[in-house]
Amino acid sequence: MTAKHAPKGKYWDEKIETMPREHIREYQLRLLQEELRYAYDNAPYYKRSFDKAGISPSDLGSLGDLKNFPFIDKKTQRDAQGVGSFLGELAAVPEDDVVFVSTSSGSTGVPTISPFTRQDFDEWQDVESRLFWQAGMRPSDRYIHALNFSLYVGGPDVIGAQNLGALCIWGGTLPSDRLIFILKSYQPTYIWTSPSYAWYLGETCRKNGIDPKEELAIKRIFVAGEMGGSIPATRAAIEALWGAEVFDFYGLSDIFGACAAQCEYHDGLHIAEDHIYVETVDLQTGELLPAGERGELIYTTLRKKARPIIRFRTGDIGIVNLEKCLCGRTHARILVDGRKDDMFIVSAVNVYPSDIEYTVREIPEVTGEYVVRVYEENFTCKYEVTVENATAGRISDGDVAARVNNALRTRCGVKPANVVVLPDGTLERSTHKAKRFIDERVTTKTHAESGK
Ligand SMILES: [Zn+2]
Repeated sequence: MTAKHAPKGKYWDEKIETMPREHIREYQLRLLQEELRYAYDNAPYYKRSFDKAGISPSDLGSLGDLKNFPFIDKKTQRDAQGVGSFLGELAAVPEDDVVFVSTSSGSTGVPTISPFTRQDFDEWQDVESRLFWQAGMRPSDRYIHALNFSLYVGGPDVIGAQNLGALCIWGGTLPSDRLIFILKSYQPTYIWTSPSYAWYLGETCRKNGIDPKEELAIKRIFVAGEMGGSIPATRAAIEALWGAEVFDFYGLSDIFGACAAQCEYHDGLHIAEDHIYVETVDLQTGELLPAGERGELIYTTLRKKARPIIRFRTGDIGIVNLEKCLCGRTHARILVDGRKDDMFIVSAVNVYPSDIEYTVREIPEVTGEYVVRVYEENFTCKYEVTVENATAGRISDGDVAARVNNALRTRCGVKPANVVVLPDGTLERSTHKAKRFIDERVTTKTHAESGK
């Protein structure tokens, strides 16, 4: 398959990607009106939900009116799954029209399935091609797709790279020694994996006497699934290890394998606004926030046919930047910097584990590996951070702990109850998705988690 618009230069789809904001809004309004009507007429859940809320698709006269429509969340999806048919009440097509399903990780409960029609699948892959092109991939590149193919929505994204014309190696989740063998013998120029695994893989190469900078050809690394790709110090550490540029990608099993990605300016992730409408709402009240304010990100699909997604509460915390980017693209940039599920409250201050990562990765006296433990003492929420001393004893553990303590107090607004300092190499190096957050809370869990 060739690109719809035969890209020649900087953009995969220049007309769409550089559309003035006014035109984006007009385009989105038309698509949104159609999608709401389509969802209401074809998905039993939306008909019931809109009727119950006393609202009709024809009530959407402007984009701002979307705030009057009800939210859905993971629980809605789980409850609707299997009701009436295999695909459930949120689906808007018969099973015969569905060509692909992925499932969510199930990390917050029963996995939910995400169905795609042929058109949904092709449009998704066109967005993947666009995001790969945006991150510099060209037909002359060799790409190793090191994402899990099994049931996971990131798996088929490799087709977007193939459609772009790159030579693709369907790696998947290979054992590290096998992957390193392929990196060495096939010399791919691009790879996609998680930030933790990019770090682990680079370190493993070095331990095996292979310098990724000298002996491998990787020049760009896509990362997703964890916050690290948007944390400058984490990105810089991976870039220095590999001698490659790191691009953060963001996807949702409910929508696309990647919905948004960084451009060469790395200042937020351009989201495909011709497919996804983004809102930001207050975490507690669900009230719509102005663009640029930090809150929970809400997504609505504009073209999805198999299962339209209307006002999905992602649980991701971030901001939306509507300003035109230096790269010339006009599509909004999202910066996701926390998960509602992981937030904890200490002395009335909201703390996100990602804030702790930001802090720890910027302190040269520690290795960057860390574990956060959130626990309760006398029904009060407290947190403890474990780090590793990177100075080989030149600076005492006590001084390192004090440094970390001060930095955390500045960044998070509240200091940890304890900082544990261990020797370099003590904490477990993660392979794919790092488990750095231990939650032992019972009574002080935040409201946001109760429905999960
Ligand atoms: Zn840009």
